[in-house]
Amino acid sequence: MALHTDRYSQILDSALDAIGNTPLIRLDRIAAEEGLKCNLLAKVEFVSSGGSVKDRIAKAMILAAERDGILIPGKSVVIEPTSGNTVDEDDSYKGYPLIITMSERMSREKETLLRALGAEVVRTPNEEPWDSPKGLIGVAKRLQQEIPHSVILDQYSNVNNPLAHEYTTGPEIISAVVSTPSTPTRPSSLMVDVFIAGVGTGGTITGVSRALKKSHNSNCIVVGVDPIGSVLALPDPLNNDTGEETPKPKPYVIEGIGYDFVPQVLSREPTDVNHWVQTSDEDAFHMVERLMKTEGLLVGGSSGSVLTGALAWLKTKQGQKIAQAEGSNVVLLLADGVRNYMSKEWFLNFALRPGPSRIP
Ligand code: PMP
Repeated sequence: MALHTDRYSQILDSALDAIGNTPLIRLDRIAAEEGLKCNLLAKVEFVSSGGSVKDRIAKAMILAAERDGILIPGKSVVIEPTSGNTVDEDDSYKGYPLIITMSERMSREKETLLRALGAEVVRTPNEEPWDSPKGLIGVAKRLQQEIPHSVILDQYSNVNNPLAHEYTTGPEIISAVVSTPSTPTRPSSLMVDVFIAGVGTGGTITGVSRALKKSHNSNCIVVGVDPIGSVLALPDPLNNDTGEETPKPKPYVIEGIGYDFVPQVLSREPTDVNHWVQTSDEDAFHMVERLMKTEGLLVGGSSGSVLTGALAWLKTKQGQKIAQAEGSNVVLLLADGVRNYMSKEWFLNFALRPGPSRIP
């Protein structure tokens, strides 16, 4: 077994230093099952110290706010509307009192973890639109008016969200791809040819896309994955609906991706996000099971969406060319781990499905 002496080969100062620097892992078995000749590579974010891709932006937003005098240790209270992954241990480590607004449909595990870290959690009704006074962001804004010295770092508009990905996630992916040699048995273009991620605030896809296209491969194809029922994908699938005058977002179960509004930090410019794929809950959950059982990756629901979206895109005309090009590199971002979802019905459905027994 290879000894990786470069990753964490020295003592770290704190858990904040164990954020990011996540591995890029081959999905060779799934690629073979799908008849793909390209390298299917997963950037696995649940190994980050807080357990998700969102550790990166929490750290970046807090450090920037401290630097700019917006957050004052010992005085400020942090309020953040989130799907539950942003602002975990970063905030607790920094010691700021923390209030989270989070929609009711997000998992119990995320709430329990936040509470264990000392946060107060306010659940908001699922059906409330984002901008209604009772919605995720509406409640956070009201609390900010009522609580002295409270600050909303606001991942939806904070430039440090995409910047964290432009400065860390993107360069890490590039570095892993260019420093893994091409061999006769494992050919590589030594370039990131395609990048595919789920889209929530859009910070990940926007930031990584900029890193890849500006400083690595201007022809890199970036694909966004959005759940059916959300409004982020282009062309807007809700506009093709049943002729309703104002198409309405529809409920879905998957967490962390999709919204009923377009966040400010998400660039939907076709130069940043070239293509969009929409995925169903059912397909995503099936793919989580497949990633766990076939590749041994204990990933969360949105990772299933990303693999579903990736395989669908690789079947399109443009995707097929990449899929069949030996050595081309298709990188998927898998945002969090399945331990966030173990009380969810979709997880229990496959985890507890009876199988053959060898116990006499
Ligand atoms: N997957 C999960 C599980 C998430 O929590 C998030 C963040 N909401 C995403 C994907 C999407 O990341 P981003 O907000 O950067 O678009």
